Parts: sequence; structure tokens; C-alpha cells
Amino acid sequence: LEIAEHKRDEPTAWLPDLIYTGGRFERGLALVTNGAGRIERIAPASEERVRTVRLAGRALLPGLVNAHSHAFQRVLRGRTERRTRERDSFWTWREMMYSAAKRLTPEDLYDASRMAFLEMALAGITAVGEFHYLHHSPSGEPYAEANLLAKQVVRAARDVGLRIALLRVAYARSGYRKEPDPAQARFIETDTEEYLHRLVQLDQDLRAQDEGTRSSWCGIALHSVRALPLEYLRRVSLFTKGEGREFPVHMHVAEQPAEIEACLEEHGLTPVRLLSEIGLLSERLTAVHAIHLTDEEARLMVQSRAGVCVCPTTERNLGDGIFRHGRLFLDGPHALSLGTDSQAQIDLLEDARELELNLRLRNMERTILAPAQDESASALAARLFACATTGGAQSIGAPSGELVPGRAADFFTVALDDASIAGAGLEDLLAGLVFSLSRTAIREVVVGGRAIVEAGRHRAQEETVARFRELQERLWGA
Ligand SMILES: [Zn+2]
Repeated sequence: LEIAEHKRDEPTAWLPDLIYTGGRFERGLALVTNGAGRIERIAPASEERVRTVRLAGRALLPGLVNAHSHAFQRVLRGRTERRTRERDSFWTWREMMYSAAKRLTPEDLYDASRMAFLEMALAGITAVGEFHYLHHSPSGEPYAEANLLAKQVVRAARDVGLRIALLRVAYARSGYRKEPDPAQARFIETDTEEYLHRLVQLDQDLRAQDEGTRSSWCGIALHSVRALPLEYLRRVSLFTKGEGREFPVHMHVAEQPAEIEACLEEHGLTPVRLLSEIGLLSERLTAVHAIHLTDEEARLMVQSRAGVCVCPTTERNLGDGIFRHGRLFLDGPHALSLGTDSQAQIDLLEDARELELNLRLRNMERTILAPAQDESASALAARLFACATTGGAQSIGAPSGELVPGRAADFFTVALDDASIAGAGLEDLLAGLVFSLSRTAIREVVVGGRAIVEAGRHRAQEETVARFRELQERLWGA
């Protein structure tokens, strides 16, 4: 299609009916992007220009940022919804997840990841934080190139056209006073220095590929308090204050009550207290899930300006529980971020609306997360949308998230006549979109000024799906 073929070095004016900028939709504007893939300015649509892309009947919004993903878990979709014992839980789901993780070759990992990233692109996601813990061969031996699997995942994201923060996971043990679990052999790096060395090496390699575009970069992921002993956590904490101070830091925190009990038993502290003790609780940290927090722990996190990434579509699928402290965080200094996590469903706006809707069911009340001083039609939706955009960008260090000059030209469009949002007015369009948009409405997706989805299709869609179907047949049978 025409959009993809323009020369990269020319400024381009994108002309939709509506642009979401400054927290509202505006008519009569053009988004001008430059050859470096950045937003140059937002200007009146009437100005004369050399190169324009007219997007009739479309509203244009900043690309969504998925702050927490395990791409390979896409292979599990629909395969874990049956009863395996009297009482299934997160832990029994994990056994099935491990059995898939054990079997993937490097090329399989590429195919599975590319499928997940393709679906993300079709859902308006332009950047992803990949919490990556598959490091070794199935026997637990490192590959000759220690970062081989991480690079397969990055290659998949690049081939789809997504930006990726590869959050390289530190995973040292099965748990406190637990025997090593052979099912975790591919994750384990017991030597902290080796972990840090491989992290820095990967970061250098990605930077060398990147040519200053920030299309892929590295971050630190501490798997969880159960997977890391105290000395390991202390060493990484020290690293984040020195040589590693540029890296975002992510960690699974308080997803399951059993994790909190084990942490209390080992350290005499809850996970949040422990992180505070060792200096990890800061604005650089994103705690993923943070479901089983006391009110006091939640306040401590807000005071330390630590972020939370909530993954409601996964949390409901796994029976994890509901994130209860949204209001405290949204009234504080940080937006929350959102993640598709296990890929049970890839629809970040569904995650955004669940933040609010779960609380409605729980409290039997409405508009719980709406700002107190703003009664406009889309005030609540704007807060939730910020979690899916600026909140995610802040969490993973993406250059996108907002349509303002200097930010990356990452955006998506929706068809205003799509059945799911037709008839919306200027003021309530964002609310309609956040609470009811169907993915069929998403038409163009652009990353760094380059269209990766046009008219609702990705160029490599057929091939990606065909390869993924073959992989699924091999893993599970036809
Ligand atoms: Zn996770």
C-alpha cells in the first residue's frame, strides 16, 4: 500500500479526522513526522505540504505500550482451560506452562514470539516490555551464544516492527528451601556476576543494532522474591545504582499469597518491605501484579514512587485476584502500566477497562477510578488510557506514549464508523474507545513513522500465522 512506500527522509503529514493530543481529541490537525521517525510537530491540517497521508474517517492515537509480556506463552492459549485435578490454580497452570517452555527450540521461540507480537501490532500496541526468562538449552546448558534465545525474541519483535525492551530475567532458584526443579533448568543462572555480564553484553549488542533509533534495548527483570536469594537481590540492587542505572527494573511482586508467606518465613518481611530494605523500591522499579498488598504496603510504594504494572486479563484467567489499589496510585505521582502477560488475550484496552470494571464488581459501585475534580465524559477513560500509553512508556523506557514533538512517531488509527464506536461525539469518543472498542476498529499502526499495519492487516500476517500453526501442531498434535 501507498503508506509504506514513502521515502524515509521526507517529512510526512498524517491527516486523520481527529488526533488525540493534550488529553483530548482535536479536529483540523496534521501530525508531522520526520525522517528520523520522530514527531516534528502538530500543525493545522490546512498548511501546504509535499507529502501527506490522508486518513479519512479515522481518529489517530498514540501507540499502546505493553509493559509486561511473556511472548512464548502464546502457545498455551486454549490449552490450559481444562480441569487437571480437584482444584486447579496458578500453580497447576504453571506446570503446563513449564512443559511447553521445555520443548521450544530457538526457532520455535521465534515463531511463537512473532505470532504474539503480530497480534499485539494488530491490537494497536507499538512497544512491548518482554520479561524474558528462557535462557538455556532444555538440559540447562547455556548455548554457545548465551543470549541466543533473547535475541530470537528481539528478532521476532523487529520483524513485526514493534519496539522491544528485553527485560532479561534473573532466576536463581526454585524457592526458599526448595529442591531444584528440572522444569526450570532453562531459566536458572545462579551466579550473579554471570547474570550481570550477560545482561550488559546483550545491552551492548542491541545498541549496536539499534543505530540510535531505540527500537530495542535492555532492562533488568528480577523474577520474584521466591526465585532470588537475598545476596543476589542486594548485588543487583547495587548494580542498579551504579553501572546499571539506565536500566528499567521489573519484578513480579505479590501475585500469589504463597509468595508472601514464603517471604515472611525466609526474611521476616513482606516482599514490598524486603524491597524497601534493600533499596530496590524506587521510581525505577515496576512491580508486576502487586495484587496481595496491604494498604500500608501500597502507600509505601506510592511514597517511593515505584510503579505497578497490572495484567488484568491474565490475572482473571489465572485466578490471581484483583488489583485493589488503583485509586491510590492514580491519585499519586505515577500512572500505572498494563501488560498482556500470559497472552490469554491480547487486547490492552481490555486490560485498561478491567482496572476499573473489576473494582465495580467487587465494590458494587461505579466510576471508582475517576478523578475527583473532573466530571467530563472522558476523564476516567483518559486516566485508563494513560496507563496503556504514557504509563507503559515510563515503565519500560520507551520513547513513545504521547503525540508531542520529539517523541517517537508511534501511533494507531481507529475507524470512526466501526460498529463498536459509531456515533460517538468528540467529548465521549475516548470513553467509548476505552470501554467498548473492538479490535476490528484498528486500521493503521505506525512505529517510528513506518506503517506496520495497513487497513487492519500486517504484511507478514499469512506467513506468521502459517508458521505458528505448524509449531502448534508439533507441540500439541493436530
Ligand atoms: Zn509475568
